Parts: sequence; structure tokens; C-alpha cells
Amino acid sequence: MAEPGGGGAGPVPEHAGIVIIGSGFAGLGMAIRLKDAGYHDFVVLEKAGRLGGTWRDNSYPGCSCDVPSYLYSFSFALHPGWTQVFSPQREIWDYLEWCADRYGVRRHIRFGREVAELEYDDARRRWRVVLAGGQVVTANAVVAGFGALHVPSYPDIPGRERFTGPAFHSARWDHSQDLTGKRVAVIGTGASAIQFIPEIAARAGRLTVFQRTAPWVQPRPDRATSPRLRRLLRTVPLANRALRIAIYWGLELRGLGFTVHPRLMRRQAETALRYLERQVPDPRLRARLTPGYGIGCKRILLSSVYYPALQRDNVELVTDRVTEIRERSILDAGGREHEVDVIVYGTGFKVTESLAELRITGRGGRKIQDAWRDRVEAYLGTTVAGFPNLFFLSGPNTGLGHTSVVFMMEAQTHYILECLRLLSRTGARALDVRPGAQREFNRRLRRRLDRRVWSTGGCRSWYLDGKGGNPTIWPGTTAEFWARTRRVRRRAYELIR
Ligand code: NAP
Repeated sequence: MAEPGGGGAGPVPEHAGIVIIGSGFAGLGMAIRLKDAGYHDFVVLEKAGRLGGTWRDNSYPGCSCDVPSYLYSFSFALHPGWTQVFSPQREIWDYLEWCADRYGVRRHIRFGREVAELEYDDARRRWRVVLAGGQVVTANAVVAGFGALHVPSYPDIPGRERFTGPAFHSARWDHSQDLTGKRVAVIGTGASAIQFIPEIAARAGRLTVFQRTAPWVQPRPDRATSPRLRRLLRTVPLANRALRIAIYWGLELRGLGFTVHPRLMRRQAETALRYLERQVPDPRLRARLTPGYGIGCKRILLSSVYYPALQRDNVELVTDRVTEIRERSILDAGGREHEVDVIVYGTGFKVTESLAELRITGRGGRKIQDAWRDRVEAYLGTTVAGFPNLFFLSGPNTGLGHTSVVFMMEAQTHYILECLRLLSRTGARALDVRPGAQREFNRRLRRRLDRRVWSTGGCRSWYLDGKGGNPTIWPGTTAEFWARTRRVRRRAYELIR
């Protein structure tokens, strides 16, 4: 694979047929599909200096994907060379760089261009895309590929600013800090933290892990791929396709507890509890690691090295709440003061809160926050009434608990292309989803979500909006989402001429 590189140094045009925001899996996949469909008048605006989105930003030790790479990749760019079933971050990032070159979209990307604001111009029926710095690009359509998990969330703990040592978030890992021999504190035990905790544990002098909620953990069936398998996948592409399909259906089957009924989660819970019992012989520690909510309500974590890491002599699990951070220490609710040199925040991302910061103005000067005042919603996770020709990738209710989000993004890119084709066919300038269609779609969605594990599992997670609503998750199978995004229901849209 090519060494990741830069590129895309050209000027930003004053007008582009389509502006894509972000160059992660979503934005890049959209760019590739557009090009493939014969669209060349588009530009990808990327705020950072390199492409890759999540797989560029998250470089913490041990970072990898918990969905097998044969599935967590583009369907049109099957890669025979994955070295692990669950690839490390660097390999996935390299893959995205390779895709940009292979499909010739790098020259469409403009790096270091942050979009500050989107404004719909009713008279001209096009978008004004305002960059940080003030430059304006006009566009007939905008595809927002920035996803939901990119604004780090730091905990609101009194005294956090007072800490004098190095402190950083997992998505902004400070690689200049050598943690060898240091006293390190990790706050959070989510999907990111359980990947880097074992790595730090092996290096740190002392590691204190602050857990607020015990996560559900299952073993991770990872292994290195053999040169033989890689050779087979390279020489027989059909074998790669067959492997992908097998993994796809395997995960859909395992995910029936998410998509059909929480009762079907029982086997998953049994697997996790059996695994915990095998891994953690000390009943007191085991009790503190036993989740107190329904499995699947928060992301099920996969790791075969997390529980062993917690039982190392230099590691301590603290389950008392963190009450205060001081210059060189952390205080817990049990009254203990833990002296630390470095704090690592594995505390996740601002998901619903980050929407408040979006500056998007649609038809008639309506702000997206007004459209989403009661609840954040879209039609098929992609279009929002009042915001014509604005398409969200990984938009509301497209998140998953059981399989690859890249699959969802690809279904959406297909749908967006269908929307663009509808515009070409009809000669309309823009399409705007009808409020009634959006309302009805979401009414049904909510009815299903209310019965799913994210609502019934007895936990508070980033999937929920604080008012009991779930604006993040797709409650059905991904096959259903795929089927529903094959064609555009013309009646669901107003065509603006
Ligand atoms: P996360 O799942 O939201 O976990 C955040 C952790 O920080 C939780 O343990 C949370 O505890 C804890 N926390 C938050 N605020 C806290 C506070 N004030 N005091 C103490 N603890 C606090 O975040 P993440 O691990 O970064 O993962 C976010 C998402 O990224 C995942 O759900 C997943 O979708 C994605 N991800 C995917 C992969 C992958 O391999 N595909 C890997 C990493 C991340 P509570 O549980 O009590 O809230």
C-alpha cells in the first residue's frame, strides 16, 4: 500500500456542483461513488491536513476496529492484505489513503479547509459554504460527512483545569508523552479505553483506572491472517467477497437481539458473564466488573486483554466516583486521594451536544437547531425537511450496535446518488423532504426504538438525547436500511424548480 501522503493542494473553487465536508470513510466513499457515476464537479473540504477522519484522529495505543476489516471496508474496494481480522488503526488509515489514490479523488480534496457555516440561498437555490477565514464556496448540493463522534468530551469534574501534569483525550493522544514508569490515571472504560488500557498497563509504573459503569465485555476473536489466506484473497477475489458476505450475515444473526427483540440478547449476556468468570477469579473484583444494565444498551466491547490487564500488580480499578481533580492527584468519593503524573480521558465524544454548535441555516432562514428543537431527526438518516440538497452521511438514526457502519454509509451514498439522478431527470434545482414524510418515518422509527435494548436496557448512554429520545441508532437490520435506500420515493420530496 502507498505511504500515506498529502495532495489536494489546489485552490478552493468559488463554485462547485457538490461540496463534501470531511474525508473519512463517509466523505471519501461519497467522493469515489460520485466520480464513478460520472460527476467530476465536486470538492471535498477537509479541516485537517490529512484524510482519514476517525482513523486519523484516533491514534491511541492499541486503537483498532472491533468489526472485522473484511466487512469494515468499502464493498467496491475489497482489500486482500489485512494482517489481522480486526485491523489496527494504522492499517485502516493506510487503506483510506490507498483508496483516495486508487480511485483518483485525492485531487478533489482541499486540506486545512474548515467549514464554519452553511447557508441556503433561497433566491438562487444553492448553498453558501462559508469557510473558517471567510472564503465562500457556492454549491448546488452539500454532503455532510463529518459524522457524530469527532468532538472529544471531557468530564465536568471540579478542578480538572488545576491538574499540572500532562492530560489528554484518547482522540487527541499526546504521543510526545512517554508513559513508561509513570503514574497514569485513566478516566472512562468505554470502547476506546479498553483498547488502550492494556497497552498503558504494560508500560506505566502504576495505572489507576476510574470506572463509572462496568461495561459488557466479550472475548475478541482476533487473529493474524496467514500469508496463505492473503494469497488466496488476492488471487481469487470471489473468495474475498464470500468471506465478506459470511461475516455480514454472521453479524446480522448475532445482532438479532438488537434488531428484533432484546430477549434474544440472552446468549450474548451468558457469553460475556462466562468469560468474566473465567478471566477474573477474585469474586470481589468480578462483582465490580459485572455490568448492572442490560447487555447491548451501551456498546458491547470486545477484548481478550482488558480483564487480564486490570489484574496486573501495577493496575488498580477504582469504582468510587471521581469527585475532584487537584494539581497532582485525583480524589474519589470514598475519600481516597490518588497521586498521578498523567491523566488520560477515555470519556468519549459530545454527540447530541455537538449539534448545538452546527451553524446551518436552511430555507427561509431557519436554523437547524430550530428544526431539531423537539428532537433530532432526519428522513432515512440523510435528508432534513427545510434543508434542500443537504445530505447527511451517518446522520440521525444510522448508528449501529452490531455491525459495520461503513455498510450504512454506502447505502446512504447510493441513496444520495439516486437523489441527484432524480434532480437530473426532472430538471429540478433541489429536493426537500416533505415534513409529513419525515414525521411519519420518525414516528414509526420511535415506536420501534422504544422496544429496543437502548431504551429498555436500563442504562444512560450517548445514544440517547437526555429526553428519552434516541436520535442515533437504526433499530432494524442493515439489510432493511439497504433495501429502503435503493430508490427515492418521489412523493416524499418536494422538487424545487
Ligand atoms: P464512550 O463509549 O462514550 O465511553 C466513555 C467512557 O467514559 C465511559 O466508560 C463513561 O462512563 C466514561 N465517562 C464519561 N464521562 C465520565 C465522567 N464524567 N466520569 C467518569 N467516567 C466518565 O466513548 P469511547 O470509548 O471513546 O467510544 C465512543 C464510541 O466510539 C463507541 O461507542 C463506538 O461507537 C466508537 N468506537 C468504536 C471503536 C471500534 O473499534 N469500532 C473503538 C472505539 C470507539 P459511563 O459508561 O458511565 O457513561
